[in-house]
Amino acid sequence: MAKVLNFKQELTGCFGQPVSENPTQAMIEAAYKHHRLDWRYLTIEVSPAGLADAVKGVRAMGFKGFNCTIPHKVAVIQHLDGLGESASVMGAVNCVVRRGDKLIGENTDGKGFLESFRTLMDPKGKRVVVFGAGGAARAITVELALAGAAGFTLVNRGAARGRELTALLHDKVKTQVQFVEWIGDFKIPDGTDAVINATSIGLFPDVDARLALDVSTLKQGMVVADVIPNPPQTRLVREARERGCKVIDGLGMLVNQGVIGIRHWTGIDPDPGVMRRALEEVFSS
Ligand code: NDP
Repeated sequence: MAKVLNFKQELTGCFGQPVSENPTQAMIEAAYKHHRLDWRYLTIEVSPAGLADAVKGVRAMGFKGFNCTIPHKVAVIQHLDGLGESASVMGAVNCVVRRGDKLIGENTDGKGFLESFRTLMDPKGKRVVVFGAGGAARAITVELALAGAAGFTLVNRGAARGRELTALLHDKVKTQVQFVEWIGDFKIPDGTDAVINATSIGLFPDVDARLALDVSTLKQGMVVADVIPNPPQTRLVREARERGCKVIDGLGMLVNQGVIGIRHWTGIDPDPGVMRRALEEVFSS
């Protein structure tokens, strides 16, 4: 009997500008290949002026979904049919999912972080210090708050951005937050369970940049997490390990947000090990 041929692949992708250095394709397509899915993940340069047409294209071409990165995380919302809970609280979308004929915006950055965090600690009732108040800090703190974290000390260089995130966490997720303007080396307060770098300090090529933190206040058993995916072994990650902390690097968050995206789009649970190895290969070459 003749075999039924199918040359049509299911489409997903990433829209951003600039986007050429975004490594997500390597890990997502490694997972598709590993799980024998005839799917593609295309890295596509989309300008702010072209975003509306790009989303129309997604509808017309039947994409199963797409990630969006800088500068589209907020602007994309007006082109979608609905939002998941955390995307709605954050006011930012990094993963769009087709459900029937609707395009729904989700935010998987914070959820990816939370999956990594839970492998070391249940966030319920925990006190967390977070450096940074940008998109990554917003996604992480909203998700930890929704998972029951007891409260945050938010440390940021810019006071306006710090106060804006503090107000969002107070108002929308009813959590306790103390904002501290970042001046000099910050000392981690007693009673802190976890410390998170959600700034861009340490990102390639400024790999030796130092986070202004008194590392002698990092205690054995604390969870210390860094969002920087490249290089994953940041100065903070190394120093925290030396002091006996339990460490999460930025690859964990990146891989897990990809895992959640693939789950949303395909319904399968991909192997995170395959995805992490694909990224390690990219960053080591
Ligand atoms: P934003 O531009 O929204 O925020 C950047 C934050 O870093 C701000 O709080 C900014 O402070 C702070 N910052 C930057 N430089 C310095 C400095 N020299 N000293 C003190 N504070 C500084 O970026 P995002 O939040 O979107 O991204 C932050 C990092 O998170 C990026 O490196 C990105 O690669 C990483 N990321 C990783 C993900 C992963 O999956 N691993 C997912 C998403 C992001 P200020 O307000 O004072 O300017």
